[in-house]
Amino acid sequence: MAGFANRFVKVADTYYIIGMEEKTIQIKYAEYPSVEALPPAEREVLEKAIEATVTAYSPYSHFCVGAAVLLDNGEIVTGSNQENVAYPSGLCAERTAMFAASARYPKVPMRKIAIVGKNQQGELCAATPCGACRQVMSEYQDVAGQNLQIILYSEGGIVLVFDGIDSLLPLRFSF
Ligand SMILES: [Zn+2]
Repeated sequence: MAGFANRFVKVADTYYIIGMEEKTIQIKYAEYPSVEALPPAEREVLEKAIEATVTAYSPYSHFCVGAAVLLDNGEIVTGSNQENVAYPSGLCAERTAMFAASARYPKVPMRKIAIVGKNQQGELCAATPCGACRQVMSEYQDVAGQNLQIILYSEGGIVLVFDGIDSLLPLRFSF
């Protein structure tokens, strides 16, 4: 028991290892009250993502997602979710857009990506990126050598803007 006491400290019924520190990761982002309130560049990319929702192929989920990527050369490449009867064969809107952008404009850095969902009632809604899409964003950010800004349409019509993938994928796997 003496050895146990040497290595642990009890605080409010919880034992902590001596030397261990609890840490917090903070996520910083900007919140805009509406699409119209965004700066022009961010607004343009998000509006392209909204347009892209109509190209979704989602006969199974009936949930449409649009994404748009702004490249360093000024081009905006869009994508939408593409589903398949063999479910894992489908692909998210974000990766559809990023892979299309990289295939069409190889090695041109990606600067911004906007993502928006549309529900069965045809209303815009939040569609936060899945883990796999965040990992792909992470790699393209590293390839670009500059932060990839992420613009997310959110509930109630507000828009969240993140300065880089570290905010959405802390402690990310990188190279
Ligand atoms: Zn995804």
